[in-house]
Amino acid sequence: MNYKEALQLDIFSIISKAATELQLETYVIGGYVRDFLLQRGDAKDVDIVAVGSGIELAKKVASLLPGKPKVQVFKNYGTAMILTEEIEVEFVGARKESYERNSRNPAVENGTLKDDQDRRDFTINAMALSLNTENFGDLLDPFNGLQDLENKRIVTPLNPDITYSDDPLRMMRAIRFATQLNFKIDPESLEAIKRNAERIEIISKERIVVELNKILASNTPSIGFKLLEKTGLLSYILPELAALKGIDEKEGQRHKDNFYHTLEVVDNIVPNTENVWLRWAALLHDIGKAPTKRFHKKIGWTFHGHEFVGGKMVYKLFKRLRMPLNEKVKYVQKMVSMSSRPIVLSQDGVTDSAVRRLVFDAGDHVDDLMTLCEADITTKNPRKFQKYHHNFQIVRQKIVEVEERDHVRNFQPPVSGEEIMETFNLKPSKEIGIIKHAIKEAILEGEIPNEYEAAHQFMIAKGKELGLVENTSNK
Ligand code: ATP
Repeated sequence: MNYKEALQLDIFSIISKAATELQLETYVIGGYVRDFLLQRGDAKDVDIVAVGSGIELAKKVASLLPGKPKVQVFKNYGTAMILTEEIEVEFVGARKESYERNSRNPAVENGTLKDDQDRRDFTINAMALSLNTENFGDLLDPFNGLQDLENKRIVTPLNPDITYSDDPLRMMRAIRFATQLNFKIDPESLEAIKRNAERIEIISKERIVVELNKILASNTPSIGFKLLEKTGLLSYILPELAALKGIDEKEGQRHKDNFYHTLEVVDNIVPNTENVWLRWAALLHDIGKAPTKRFHKKIGWTFHGHEFVGGKMVYKLFKRLRMPLNEKVKYVQKMVSMSSRPIVLSQDGVTDSAVRRLVFDAGDHVDDLMTLCEADITTKNPRKFQKYHHNFQIVRQKIVEVEERDHVRNFQPPVSGEEIMETFNLKPSKEIGIIKHAIKEAILEGEIPNEYEAAHQFMIAKGKELGLVENTSNK
């Protein structure tokens, strides 16, 4: 079969010309070919494999390109990269690989196109298109990846036990592709992943997180997390989440399966946010439920304080997975530890002061918090579903009103500590903190508006109450 139409960008004819000049067999391989056949939209990068030196080919290509772009050479990997205006092009020489058991870094030697296709992870990623003049655009598909694309299957080119054991990252990639493309993992492959799950421990955390982020960025992340659970991988990489699975029953009382509930929440939030960190928050919002689960004869199952415990667990989890320990982790912690606040509020009747406190505590993230809570509505009872959404609508409305009036989102005390010191002739002391706190509380409770004059008056009154004497000398 011929797919010249996949090779219309100028870069492909230039690579072809360079390959002819160097007399190198050259092909496009991997994701570009797969995504073209799936009509998955514009590609941002393309992988070129040459039977010979990929670096030499890259240099030749650059010399033929207008503007002669720079070639970035990665000598250790035998690869080179050119960034054109159209696309990022990666060049590599065809390789044959053999693996040692304790590493995913193989011994590498030069090989044929077929050797190179053998070492690819999946049949759908092993297809190549020829850039050679005699058969430009021909598809070279030794493992019938085209058929697997049609059947929506993730299949390894060689024995799956060897493929996964050689490089256990491929287990994550299988699940990630199944999620992104909505494909099925071949049953033999799935069994092989189960058998090799433990080997995920030799993979760096950073690479695992790359795949988790891609699963979370997809349209239906639950597909991936169910597969991670089913294959046993989840217990190695996110044991906190695996611990949420299952339903306990005591004295006829059951609680919901918090793992599947969590996955519903994650899928629910997808259409409402592209922010991967908010998706992480959805994934982790209930992790505190496993360690806080208790049974009480009278009230049944409880998870008291799970939000607070969950927030602490988020930090440890981020640290273990070498995820960013900066404002990202703080954001996810905040979302998790506040995840029940709007619910309580919408149940108790929405008072202005409760809304002010919510906005004060959540700050700029209050909208994200509402989005999380709305996604958390997974009831199958349509009447309740409507009611809960309606209640949150009211909360959202109130947030806008209260914020317009009181501006507590990024609260700045209307009276500064210095002014308090001057007013009462104070040195730094605990009274200043007491007064500042009282002003903030009075604003949040709605006793005074968030304005200078009112806060100033309140300060004087509070100071007197504390037995302080007003300094009249600078009036
Ligand atoms: P995406 O860009 O969506 O991640 P991709 O298939 O282009 O998809 P890359 O990680 O860029 O993914 O890999 C390019 C190609 O290299 C793949 O299509 C596959 O043929 C091969 N490949 C990548 N990682 C592995 C691996 N761990 N084992 C075997 N082959 C791999």
